[in-house]
Amino acid sequence: MMSTIVIDLDHLLADPIFDPDRCSIGFHPLHTIWAAIAYGLLLAIQSWKLRAICAGCLWHLCTDAFDCLIGWVWA
Ligand SMILES: [Zn+2]
Repeated sequence: MMSTIVIDLDHLLADPIFDPDRCSIGFHPLHTIWAAIAYGLLLAIQSWKLRAICAGCLWHLCTDAFDCLIGWVWA
């Protein structure tokens, strides 16, 4: 989905851009629990475009969180 590219821009703001030892959840401004809550609230708005973006962002947070869990397990 194209919409997940929006939240990936958040990764580009980070330095370094990709660090396998770092958990991006809670590190990037769009990856905090508050951002997740905002996406959830925006899902209630009757707009399929907005819903697609929010669903994509939430899914992105899920995959990032999964990466974190994998990292902790293997650490
Ligand atoms: Zn991410």
